[in-house]
Amino acid sequence: MKWRRGLRAGSYEDPQLRLVPFWPLSDGEIHYFYWFIQGSIMNAGVRWALRRAWGLCERHAWAALAVETAFRSDYVLGPTVLYVDLLDRCLSHIPRSGPFRPLRFRRCMRATGPCMACDMGLYWATNGLAKSELLDQGRRTDALVSYARRYRELWQPNACQLCAGSPRTDDLSADNTLCRPHILAQRNTPTENQIRSLQALLETTYNHVSILDRSYTLGNEGTERPEGHAALLTTIGWLSGWRPLLALT
Ligand SMILES: [Zn+2]
Ligand SMILES: [Zn+2]
Repeated sequence: MKWRRGLRAGSYEDPQLRLVPFWPLSDGEIHYFYWFIQGSIMNAGVRWALRRAWGLCERHAWAALAVETAFRSDYVLGPTVLYVDLLDRCLSHIPRSGPFRPLRFRRCMRATGPCMACDMGLYWATNGLAKSELLDQGRRTDALVSYARRYRELWQPNACQLCAGSPRTDDLSADNTLCRPHILAQRNTPTENQIRSLQALLETTYNHVSILDRSYTLGNEGTERPEGHAALLTTIGWLSGWRPLLALT
């Protein structure tokens, strides 16, 4: 299978999907992510697959959020629980000291498993007898666009310049925020300064998204802040890449 060859070559997403526009989603993707929201995200096997891959590939990370917001609008409990967990893991994997820190950082940030949605061939799957109303609603991206636009001022400064279309360069300063896939694609390892500024960004993001996570628990209703929603978008963008969201907004 072509996909398996891609995996061995270090690509963790379905190479055939690179030829397909990010939007609209296929029936198979909508149907799967609809059920994903309904609980499979909490399944231990699924959680470990997501941890190994640092979430989902760029396409499927935003596809999952698009389907979530299409059905639940701003009630982003499932993604928040998932991304608090992934960001916590990510921060705990960033080496704090010791020799070859940039090299070790790069190694830790590599996925060790495929995007589970690509691995299942979701794009190519049938609609699984999903009702056409469900597919129509799940294909709509206006809820994600409206959600992202509302918090744009807060997340946009964190978006990856290369995802946004800046010319590719291997000489990026510490001020340039790159997403995880673009950091890994750079020829040079990140500098100490870049790792430090990235760590600071991820720690701030984690604090905000944790407050959002807590706001879904009993007794903490109404404590969510715009920064939490922007932090959720920053987490997804940093772990998986920003292009599908930027293409929409
Ligand atoms: Zn994927
Ligand atoms: Zn990027």
